[in-house]
Amino acid sequence: MGISGIDYVEYSWGPWMGCPGVKDDPSCANCYAHRGMKRYGHNPYKVVRTSKATWHQPLTQTRDRRNWKWEPGSYVFVCPWSDFFLPQADEWRSEAWDVMRQRPDLVWVLTTKQVERVAANLSIIWPSDNRIIMATTPNQELADKRTPHLLELKSRFANIKLGLSIEPLLGEIDFRWTPYHYQATGETYRQYLDRVGVINEYESLRLLDWLVLGCQSLGRRAGKFQDGFIDAALKIVRQGKEASVPTYMKQACINGMVSKDPSEWLEELQKREKPI
Ligand code: SF4
Repeated sequence: MGISGIDYVEYSWGPWMGCPGVKDDPSCANCYAHRGMKRYGHNPYKVVRTSKATWHQPLTQTRDRRNWKWEPGSYVFVCPWSDFFLPQADEWRSEAWDVMRQRPDLVWVLTTKQVERVAANLSIIWPSDNRIIMATTPNQELADKRTPHLLELKSRFANIKLGLSIEPLLGEIDFRWTPYHYQATGETYRQYLDRVGVINEYESLRLLDWLVLGCQSLGRRAGKFQDGFIDAALKIVRQGKEASVPTYMKQACINGMVSKDPSEWLEELQKREKPI
């Protein structure tokens, strides 16, 4: 952990690692975290707390003790080999919030598939609006299921930013209103949007602060959904533009390979926007 290989952040911080996976979520296949943990001989399904040195990384100072090692303004991906909101990590989470609270000058990116657990596990006393909660939405079904929980956070917490991690993108997704059942309250999603003051089809997206998308990668080769990837990515980028949401295209599938070089992509996909 430390300097990150995830190119929209500068650092990765993993206070715990391991994850049992989410049933029926196709993006758990070929999990990046599991591959990384196996490489180092860890059991990827077992959630374990990491070392004291890892916990201390965000609070490490330069040799002359004048500055932080992790420069102010840097983005930090939290739990690259796990999920910050896993129930197996409940006993460690408040301590992790304490570490993050000491660095209001960093931008903490918390990507989760446990979005229905976020509200109950969010630290509310917070010095800055430097936390971005990202729900993973690889396809329409999971976007429909997870986005309402994410939007509900907007109405309850003032000092967080919200985003969607559409990674890997595994099918076309329409983020405009859809008449699915809003599980938390029993109302339809459209009723929910009306209640929070929604006036047009892009309002739900406008409540968000960031979209990150990319193709599935199996090393240098692309994974599933190669043929439809470019069209689906274009549709998401256009929806983000209509809703004025900063959009970050991480990697594209070109001829079955993963491309991280925006100059190889259609101009419309060359988006590297950040919310802060
Ligand atoms: S870390 Fe994420 S992708 Fe991997 S198994 Fe857990 S939830 Fe799935």
